[in-house]
Amino acid sequence: TRSLADADPAVFAGVTHELTREQTQIELIASENIVSKAVLEAQGSVFTNKYAEGYPGKRYYQGCHPSDEVETLAIDRAKQLFNCGYVNVQPHSGAQANGAVMLALTKPGDTILGLSLDAGGHLTHGARAAMSGKWFNAVQYGVLPDTHLIDYDQVERLAVEHKPTLIITGGSAYPRVIDFERFRAIADKVGAKLMVDMAHFAGIVAGGLHPSPLPFADVVTTTTHKTLRGPRGGMVLTNDEGVAKKINSAVFPGLQGGPLMHVIAAKAVAFGEALQPEFKGYIKAVVENAKVLAATLKERGAEIVSGGTDTHLALVDLTPLGVTGRDADEALERAGITCNKNGIPNDPLPPVKTSGIRVGSPAGTTRGFGTAEFREIGHMVADVLDGLKSKGEGGDAGVEAEVNTRVRALCARFPIYQD
Ligand code: PLP
Repeated sequence: TRSLADADPAVFAGVTHELTREQTQIELIASENIVSKAVLEAQGSVFTNKYAEGYPGKRYYQGCHPSDEVETLAIDRAKQLFNCGYVNVQPHSGAQANGAVMLALTKPGDTILGLSLDAGGHLTHGARAAMSGKWFNAVQYGVLPDTHLIDYDQVERLAVEHKPTLIITGGSAYPRVIDFERFRAIADKVGAKLMVDMAHFAGIVAGGLHPSPLPFADVVTTTTHKTLRGPRGGMVLTNDEGVAKKINSAVFPGLQGGPLMHVIAAKAVAFGEALQPEFKGYIKAVVENAKVLAATLKERGAEIVSGGTDTHLALVDLTPLGVTGRDADEALERAGITCNKNGIPNDPLPPVKTSGIRVGSPAGTTRGFGTAEFREIGHMVADVLDGLKSKGEGGDAGVEAEVNTRVRALCARFPIYQD
């Protein structure tokens, strides 16, 4: 029963460095959040010791009653949160959840139709480098060049031409609400199943400020660690009993072995938190803050892909500022602001450079930043970008140091994990 600090000082040092980093940097990575102490505690619990292959009431091991308790809580809370009939909380990650849907509803070599990576889609939606792109005939749709909105007419044309088994929508860098009804109509027209990957905006659906894909999709996948503010993990939801049965078999024994019961316990805690009335207020602030951040960056000369955002994230086109995504995210990290470089639609630069950055409000909003703070953060980001513009790719060390002082002061006013 030695503590981590005592038993393994090297790993303890790494954990301490990460804690300090989270406490003193402004987190703008749109896919990240800051979980509660209760979520951390459940994830760090003795459930990490337990094998519980199978599902509640039907396990392949003995000693699973406590596992059944927490998994049932996670399932029931997720059903309530998303108003749906069937949930599988076992996928180890979002990619696993998407893999399970493919295993359940398609065969290798089938045609799938998803949003392309450079238009904001995810690797698991048919990108060439991923299994979804290698084992399937993956056809990809994009966004319109002027509005940056999904080109629904193209989706329909491609669906009619290629007759996909599965149509996928949702993405990692698409800032606008998706027309699920239109996707349903297209899927029905060609006899395809429709999967919506709500990984990014699941928390906004739970908070009531984003349309739910569940009335339209055959199956919905998500991660649990983004706007939903739970532990790292995945989940599959559906209202179709037949699909639910296939998904359960696909997750286990199809794709995974033992579920991560400690993560499932933490998912149950996070879903419980998301069911509280305060979560609605959190999500309202997430959406307002993202709009303010995008608007401030626009005022300061950047372009915002699609002109703004309906969600928690904005895709910032740095072309008018004459800086690349890679130089920008490195300079911002030096100043204590974390984000990621991101391709923009039809990006002339390669993925290792990119013309854009993706920014998001979920983590900052969790620590208590409001619109005034996000406006200030927008100015800090713009000051660093202006420094890059004037001094070239190495950035302006003076400006970065000055912004870092402001970052640390702001973080000190909104502390996290203090006790
Ligand atoms: N789906 C979408 C839309 C995502 O943005 C992501 C992660 O970024 C995933 C799936 C994959 O999730 P994970 O990283 O948990 O495998």
